[in-house]
Amino acid sequence: FDDRDGMIWWDGALRPWREANLHVLSHGLHYASAVFEGERSYNGNIFKLRDHTERLIASGRILGFEIPYSAEQIDAACKEVLAANNLTDGYIRPLAWRGAEQLSVSAQATRIHLAIAAWPWPNLFGADRMKGITLGMAQWRRPDPRTAPTASKAAGLYMIGTLSKHAAEAEGFNDALMLTCDGHVAEATGANIFFAIDGALHTPIPESFLDGITRRTVMALARSRQITVHERRIDPAEMATASEVFLAGTAAEVTPVRQIGDLTFTPGAMTRMLIDDYDALVRMSPAEVAKRAA
Ligand code: PMP
Repeated sequence: FDDRDGMIWWDGALRPWREANLHVLSHGLHYASAVFEGERSYNGNIFKLRDHTERLIASGRILGFEIPYSAEQIDAACKEVLAANNLTDGYIRPLAWRGAEQLSVSAQATRIHLAIAAWPWPNLFGADRMKGITLGMAQWRRPDPRTAPTASKAAGLYMIGTLSKHAAEAEGFNDALMLTCDGHVAEATGANIFFAIDGALHTPIPESFLDGITRRTVMALARSRQITVHERRIDPAEMATASEVFLAGTAAEVTPVRQIGDLTFTPGAMTRMLIDDYDALVRMSPAEVAKRAA
């Protein structure tokens, strides 16, 4: 991923992609003192940019550091990176981390750095999207919120994500479904999950994982279609009663699920409608969104 053309924004300036190298003694690398975002741009507009920027800043504060840029500066830098890479549609990845100024558990002397990259990332499934993906059950559980700062989009929390995703892939699944530490349904490794049961939508309470921006968007879209949305604890045994299942996340967008472990599902009308509504919303210009809200 490091050997390609393009520009990466780093601490206030654009650098060539291949030259955006980090010192190996960076605190963020050794102790996971790093937070990031994942954003998507459609037709040149970054969807919910300010929400992502605010979550980035909040994620850093949860890890005890302050990103040395304002929300306005971060928003502008994200747009600058897109333009510098000639992208109108793409994925944007801001990353903030503690630098190499001190290398010990205590990191009071470290500086906080911010880099932002962008690259093309089409919907993974394109025209085949309604076919749906498969999830294996993860062995790792989401940490209790008393065990790890689960409201932060912190790099360290993705350790169990990669382990779970690799284990699922080894068994032939596309992704893994993780449970909460007390055994309820939590989320996939990079997206939240929804179940259609008796015409309503059910989704877990985000107590030990991210309350995704896409999750909240989908809940609002569903409610504007008069679909009741229940945020509640979901026992894994209840998954068998779902007629449709889908994931929601910035990269995943709305992705139907056709299998979880031994259970199979047929992506249907509710998923189709929410995919269409989501696709229409993300492609609206900011002016259209404001007009619709008024
Ligand atoms: N959970 C995890 C673990 C994620 O990585 C993501 C993607 N950021 C989400 C949920 C969904 O969040 P969002 O809709 O804000 O992208």
